[in-house]
Amino acid sequence: MKVNFLGTGTSQGIPIIGSDHPVCLSSDNKDKRLRVSIWVRWDDCSYVIDCGPDFRQQMLRANCKKVDAILFTHEHADHTAGIDDIRPFNFRMGEMPFYGHPRVIENIKNRFDYIFQTENKYPGAPSVKTYEVINDSPFILGGKKIIPINALHGDLQVFGYRIDDFAYLTDVKTIEDKEIAKLKNLKVLVVNALREEPHFSHFSLQEALDFIALVKPEKAYLTHISHIMGFHEDVQKKLPENVFLAYDELEITI
Ligand SMILES: [Zn+2]
Ligand SMILES: [Zn+2]
Repeated sequence: MKVNFLGTGTSQGIPIIGSDHPVCLSSDNKDKRLRVSIWVRWDDCSYVIDCGPDFRQQMLRANCKKVDAILFTHEHADHTAGIDDIRPFNFRMGEMPFYGHPRVIENIKNRFDYIFQTENKYPGAPSVKTYEVINDSPFILGGKKIIPINALHGDLQVFGYRIDDFAYLTDVKTIEDKEIAKLKNLKVLVVNALREEPHFSHFSLQEALDFIALVKPEKAYLTHISHIMGFHEDVQKKLPENVFLAYDELEITI
């Protein structure tokens, strides 16, 4: 299985428009972060988790020619605003399967109502088939079991996903022990770490490191990173030896 980090930035991305912050002005490519998303592949199967406002640019940059389904963690705009740009995949492959919590599917249907119109639908509009993800109900994609991991993002429910020995969790602030129990024996855990200072709805760096120490994956990668976390190079030096700051276009094999 290959995991490609399409984007590793928090909701505004890095650089932030108009910002003179040193990290936003950095010439290191690892300090340039599109909105958070990953591309997961095995055999002939290809899936994307979340579809933020940078989706089009990410698909072009990664030279992604096929997406079999999109899995959603939650409905925030930095995870859903790129949905209109699935059209090139629709034109080539037909309806795009969307997987998400029933609340997330409902939210997408309201915000992108033109996609779901049954009468007089504009012929070029995206076409989507929705599948509800229910906690404690793993489902199969491409012959692999996908295990939803339930967590809280402030007060908002979010799903992470475990696929074999890999798990991806973003926009997490709190998670129950019974969900942590689903994360045993991971080779790779990806988890969000916004910045050093605490935040009401995201893990801080220390909270993410504490969580990693609890889950004990072989390796962990941090994502959904704010510019105020600091320069990639500086932050990486402070991390334990099995923890890495993810960066855009990083590809790992599991
Ligand atoms: Zn987010
Ligand atoms: Zn969010």
